[in-house]
Amino acid sequence: PKLTKKEEEEIIRRSQALEQNDTLELRKVSRQVYLQKRRDQKLLELRDDIIDHEYLFEGVKLTDAEERELRYKKKIYELAKEHLEDFDDISEYRMPEAYDQEGGVNQEKRFAAAMQRYRDPDAGDKMNPFAEQEAWEEHQIGKATLKFGSKNGKQAADDYQYVFEDGIDFIKASVMDGVQAEDELPSEEPDVSSAKSKLEKLQEERKTLPIYPYREELLQAVHDHQVLVIVGETGSGKTTQIPQYLHEAGYSKNGKIGCTQPRRVAAMSVAARVSEEMGVKLGHEVGYSIRFEDCTSDKTFLKYMTDGMLLREFLGEPDLASYSVVMVDEAHERTLSTDILFGLVKDITRFRKDLKLLISSATLDAEKFSDYFDSAPIFKIPGRRYPVEIHFTTAPEADYIDAAIVTVLQIHVTQPPGDILVFLTGQEEIETVDEILKHRTRGLGTKIAELIICPIYANLPTELQAKIFEPTPEGARKVVLATNIAETSLTIDGIKYVVDPGFCKIKSYNPRTGMESLLINPISKASAMQRAGRSGRTGPGKCFRLYTAYNYHHDLDDNTVPEIQRTNLANVVLTLKSLGIHDLVNFDFMDPPPSEALLKALEQLFALNALNSRGELTKTGRRMAEFPLDPMLSKMIVASDKYKCAEEIISVAAMLSVGNSIFYRPKDKQVHADNARMNFHTGNVGDHIALLTVYNSWKETNYSTQWCYENFIQVRSMKRARDIRDQLEGLLERVEIELTSNMNELDAIKKAITSGFFHHSAKLQKTGAYRTVKNPQTVYIHPSSGLAQVLPRWVIYHELVLTTKEYMRQVTELKPEWLVEIAPHYYQLKD
Ligand code: ADP
Ligand code: MG
Repeated sequence: PKLTKKEEEEIIRRSQALEQNDTLELRKVSRQVYLQKRRDQKLLELRDDIIDHEYLFEGVKLTDAEERELRYKKKIYELAKEHLEDFDDISEYRMPEAYDQEGGVNQEKRFAAAMQRYRDPDAGDKMNPFAEQEAWEEHQIGKATLKFGSKNGKQAADDYQYVFEDGIDFIKASVMDGVQAEDELPSEEPDVSSAKSKLEKLQEERKTLPIYPYREELLQAVHDHQVLVIVGETGSGKTTQIPQYLHEAGYSKNGKIGCTQPRRVAAMSVAARVSEEMGVKLGHEVGYSIRFEDCTSDKTFLKYMTDGMLLREFLGEPDLASYSVVMVDEAHERTLSTDILFGLVKDITRFRKDLKLLISSATLDAEKFSDYFDSAPIFKIPGRRYPVEIHFTTAPEADYIDAAIVTVLQIHVTQPPGDILVFLTGQEEIETVDEILKHRTRGLGTKIAELIICPIYANLPTELQAKIFEPTPEGARKVVLATNIAETSLTIDGIKYVVDPGFCKIKSYNPRTGMESLLINPISKASAMQRAGRSGRTGPGKCFRLYTAYNYHHDLDDNTVPEIQRTNLANVVLTLKSLGIHDLVNFDFMDPPPSEALLKALEQLFALNALNSRGELTKTGRRMAEFPLDPMLSKMIVASDKYKCAEEIISVAAMLSVGNSIFYRPKDKQVHADNARMNFHTGNVGDHIALLTVYNSWKETNYSTQWCYENFIQVRSMKRARDIRDQLEGLLERVEIELTSNMNELDAIKKAITSGFFHHSAKLQKTGAYRTVKNPQTVYIHPSSGLAQVLPRWVIYHELVLTTKEYMRQVTELKPEWLVEIAPHYYQLKD
């Protein structure tokens, strides 16, 4: 291609830079070239030019300018190629622990394949989720240029093929009937003139919801019955409207209207929406309460909260006297807290006749709730759902992450407008898919319509959560990457396509070993139907299942097992005991937990000295119950009183509660990041003390953000730790523990930790592996631990995570005699 005058000048200017060896400038240019590559294949053009000159024009005398240009191009090409290696400093911003975060590993082959490719913790430097993408793109670009020349007009028509090289075959299997005929479609958007205020618009929107025509009937039913089971499709308006109706009907005059949600994000997001609809400030009349975050005030009469929070409120107010209505929402989720709440609220309706109880559920299987609540009437909100076409893959997919990405792109280029909802299992998967989708669409540039990627998961900052509800701009398509939260808890309008890989993260508990883990598991048929239904809310939809019809029929359970039957019950048992409920075996469970799990919980609480041998709450137990933490953590805090180190221990507890997102490790600065991290481990103090040092050092800098940057620490996580710590400090006062500091005696701090975590002790074996002391099992120190190279003889760990191996995470050295001193009923010296 002939150069324009301007380009020529530019080249001359830059070639001068080359001559003057101005590397900085060149690097900048080469980087731009590399980044541009994705849009217009600059790099390849560059390479082709060089080849042209070197081979085709061999022997042809070049002009000075041409020669300079060639030299310039070669240099730029060389440098740009380097960027292929060290690019990604932004997009590969991943945490070292992220690869196996939350124990998200499935033993199943298909997930193992995904793990291998995207986050093998042992892969180290090889781990580049884009390596394959790069190769694929290179290949595609190469092919496209080969076939069509560089800028051939035909190219647009071949874009599909471009995306579809590794397409997935689906077969349409069935159509899930809509409950509303197509000709009954409500006329599109109500015609709202822009003169109307936002509030007025929201009020009009409220009237278009399926529940609206049943408002009076519903209020009548609530008036007539103390307990009501309400069933309606997701998106019909149960969560946002019913509490408002009740407020409008005056129920908030005699007390609060409380509405529980199984998920934090849902509680926050719904509260935000309702406060907007009512035109009030969030946290005033309408608020929410989730663990470690109370966004309510004295004025609040409409309160959204997690089910766990309402459970905790029983501790201070066993009859929920300040409530006039309690709505247990998303009851079909059957979380542990919801199941316990059922028993407790059922009990209080017997003596608080003025309390209204609503149980609401998205699934039609409501008889069970009705039966449990003494044949409470069921109020059905006729749904509005359009037919949904169900597609299965023709063959099993080895890697569902990859398959999800390809399917999204496939929908994007072949299907008419409409947003896409993809169900993934957790934050890390969402981030991976987000990155790869961005990467791939960048490669396609302007050839396809814009794809707006919106992630949503529990830890996503609130500002970003709002993005998923924003209307999609004309000509663009939105793809929402969500966890199970979008199955029933959150309704996102405009979804026309659902991509369902068929997995979710499920907590499972082995009562024999007392070990709990979060594993990726296949979903149930009921979940699959719910997910599919998300695409038919505003018009006919399509659901693409990334598994075969055979899988669906043969491998999926009908329903998800309620959490109470697969979790550690220690926390619940402690709460129930502190509510004065002693006879757990005869507690009115909707589905009782396995008695083995109950026994194990009692045993654990006894070992922690929270219960006495008669199973009654001890003083320690009473204090422990005040903390919204796992019993082992609360025991550690209570024990800090004895060791005079409460100041330190609540910092440790807060840091542990934040999870594994304190340190980060940008790809291009891994060595720096690792060095910075190891600074906190001076003296091999162990991970708990290292966390404490991080917290204290940050505090010394007056909570400086700059300091976090310099030390490769996530500011957001630190702020959260600070919040949690503040609350724990408040709770210390309640249980009358003095805030004393004992920073000079690390052993005292370690002993307090041991008081909570003596169950989690392990001893080094000759092989370099560890063996847990109780319920012997082979485990290893997680590579991210400061003690990973040190291998002390005895350790205590915070948790086990199963990835490629069973790893102990957050490890501290232990003196074995402490075990005997601290938990003599649990450990005895062998002679
Ligand atoms: P249900 O509880 O029956 O599933 P919801 O009350 O959650 O239904 O949702 C009713 C409507 O409110 C839906 O159209 C949904 O899109 C909208 N909505 C809910 N939360 C928000 C939010 N945070 N932002 C915007 N719209 C929302
Ligand atoms: Mg809801």
